[in-house]
Amino acid sequence: MTDCIFCKIVRGEIQTLKVYEDSLNLAFLDINPSSLGHTIIIPKKHYQKLEEMTEEEAKELFSVIFRLTKIIPKSVGTTDCNIGINNGKFAGQEVSHLHFHIIPRFEGDNGLPMQGLVRMEVKKEDLPNIAEKIKKEIENSEVFKEKEKSEEQKKEKSEEIKEIKEESTKSSEREWQEFNLEEQDKAPNYSEARRE
Ligand code: AMP
Repeated sequence: MTDCIFCKIVRGEIQTLKVYEDSLNLAFLDINPSSLGHTIIIPKKHYQKLEEMTEEEAKELFSVIFRLTKIIPKSVGTTDCNIGINNGKFAGQEVSHLHFHIIPRFEGDNGLPMQGLVRMEVKKEDLPNIAEKIKKEIENSEVFKEKEKSEEQKKEKSEEIKEIKEESTKSSEREWQEFNLEEQDKAPNYSEARRE
């Protein structure tokens, strides 16, 4: 059992203002809000950083964030918000349990955009080099290969299902034809009957 503050919230050992909960995720108001409606969204399972989760868990978490983005700004009378993670110590993470922030933004609130978080000196002429490094890393890493593999598997599966469906339609048509033929064999010969 961890003594992480957000794990304690999950276990109900620390009181918080919950706004949403399901079996995997929880959302509550930030105790020290940056703006009206500032909300923290966490997976109940303890991870420090986003990349530690499984893709399925990340999808579930992102689906909650997606839905809350439609609700939270509106419920505090605005249309806009910043959404983000302080993903790791260097990025300013203080609570070491993965969490998203939804921070509603208001006209004239004097806040900064996300790009205002850090201003490193990066030379424009270095950008192509950086893009190459990232692309090479993608090529060499297993991360996207897994995605390609799973997409290939999904495609194969859906083709399999399509084939099974087509086969079953064909065979039910055949059965219907056979059934009709049988019925015709059994039909009485009325022309014979009339002659009698
Ligand atoms: P960070 O780890 O930098 O992304 O920030 C952690 C956030 O969690 C801060 O905005 C805190 O105000 C917030 N926070 C810390 N403890 C609590 C708590 N007990 N209830 C709600 N929010 C909290």
